[in-house]
Amino acid sequence: MNIETLKTRLINAGYKVTKQREIIFNALLENKEAHLSPEELNEIVSKKNPEIGIATIYRTLLIFEELNLVYKLDFDDNRYRYELVDEDEYHHHHHLICTNCGKVEEVKYDLLEDIERQIKKDYSFDIKNHDLKFYGICSDCQEKLKDKEK
Ligand SMILES: [Zn+2]
Ligand SMILES: [Zn+2]
Ligand SMILES: [Zn+2]
Repeated sequence: MNIETLKTRLINAGYKVTKQREIIFNALLENKEAHLSPEELNEIVSKKNPEIGIATIYRTLLIFEELNLVYKLDFDDNRYRYELVDEDEYHHHHHLICTNCGKVEEVKYDLLEDIERQIKKDYSFDIKNHDLKFYGICSDCQEKLKDKEK
């Protein structure tokens, strides 16, 4: 996934390649594992490009989603977040969400192959993808909580 992917997808779908779309896409590329909300993305982008506002960010993310460039994620924290689609991935990676500080980490391996095989066998269901979220306390927060107890 790079700027050429963006240009090709936009053109193929009949959209224009605009400077703003490139800037927003690059900001997503530069913050690959940040799982940004539109508001956070806007903060990053508008620092250097004050002409881009939150309405543009929302509109652009809708287009990116339609072109299968980004995933829209819901971590049950009252906002949507976005990440670039990883085309090398067979299935979507998993997310670890810290309920103390809100940090999101990625688990890159699938680990569900056995379950997928079993489901296919028992339900003859053809699994295309999955979306798995784990809620808990991250290692940093565990350390901090330990210090507090002392
Ligand atoms: Zn899988
Ligand atoms: Zn944490
Ligand atoms: Zn992710």
